[in-house]
Amino acid sequence: MDGGIKVIVKWSGKEYEISDLSESDTVSTLKNAIHKETCVLPERQKLLNLKFKGKTPDDDLHLSALKLKPGFKIMMMGSLEQDIADASAPPEDMPEVINDLDIEEEEVAIENKEVYLAKIERRIREYKINILNEPRPGKKLLVLDIDYTLFDHRSAAETGYELMRPYLHEFLTSAYKDYDIVIWSATSMKWIEEKMKLLGVSSHSDYKVAFYLDSLAMISVHTPKYGVVQVKPLGVIWGKFTQYSSKNTIMFDDIRRNFLMNPGNGLKIRPFKQAHLNRDKDRELLRLAKYLQEIAHEEDLGSLDHKYWEKYRPKKKKRERIGDESGDKSQS
Ligand code: MG
Repeated sequence: MDGGIKVIVKWSGKEYEISDLSESDTVSTLKNAIHKETCVLPERQKLLNLKFKGKTPDDDLHLSALKLKPGFKIMMMGSLEQDIADASAPPEDMPEVINDLDIEEEEVAIENKEVYLAKIERRIREYKINILNEPRPGKKLLVLDIDYTLFDHRSAAETGYELMRPYLHEFLTSAYKDYDIVIWSATSMKWIEEKMKLLGVSSHSDYKVAFYLDSLAMISVHTPKYGVVQVKPLGVIWGKFTQYSSKNTIMFDDIRRNFLMNPGNGLKIRPFKQAHLNRDKDRELLRLAKYLQEIAHEEDLGSLDHKYWEKYRPKKKKRERIGDESGDKSQS
């Protein structure tokens, strides 16, 4: 049999096909081929899931030893020389990139709701959740997106930490006191697990993630304005776990359309992009940790308007406020 090998390299949000390799080539040949496609130097390439006996293979190892399946996807991290130079240069004032493709809140047409509820029912029945840590009685639920919410998946870097949103672990540690934590990403389970490992989330000692949901738990809905879009219906979780409901769930995502089936429970987070430029100033997770803590005593999270989360003030006793107002009047 001819020993032609074809693999896909996933890097910085794009996929590159590498073919023309044979079983007798080495890891070093593979890295050179990747260099040709992506311009990332072999010594800067980190091939995350390329393993030999559980370890990173040596450069002179023959590819035949890796037993790669045809079309195997290699997840790579690695920086371009130019990007490294840019990142170490003093940051300029970059205009914030606005996501034009994002969708403003749009009510799903009533006549379609039955169809979507049926899809959700099907996910509840058929989607298998692998529980990592049992839900805790009395806790609320926090559902988190990954890409651009916790992690800048488009910038190039040599380690996951460089692309992690600042204060991620502090945020999760704080949230864990009142909320069970669920990660829901529109990618595959394999990537979710890989990323959570990379960021040190899956092994953290101060908080635990209850479970992960991937793209297969999502449903497609048709909106008059934008056509067919994929969304993350919280009903899938609510149907599987009776302790969670619209009253005690909040979900963070940088894409508002993911909330279409449950707009009252979504908080649109500012996307974390251009990690190299924004790592030092992004404090979103720190501020949101405080918000989560403040609303943890609320009886119905779905009734809050999370769009104005920055304006939220914990309810004070009414009497003080009335006192202030009458005081103002007597002054004028
Ligand atoms: Mg995202």
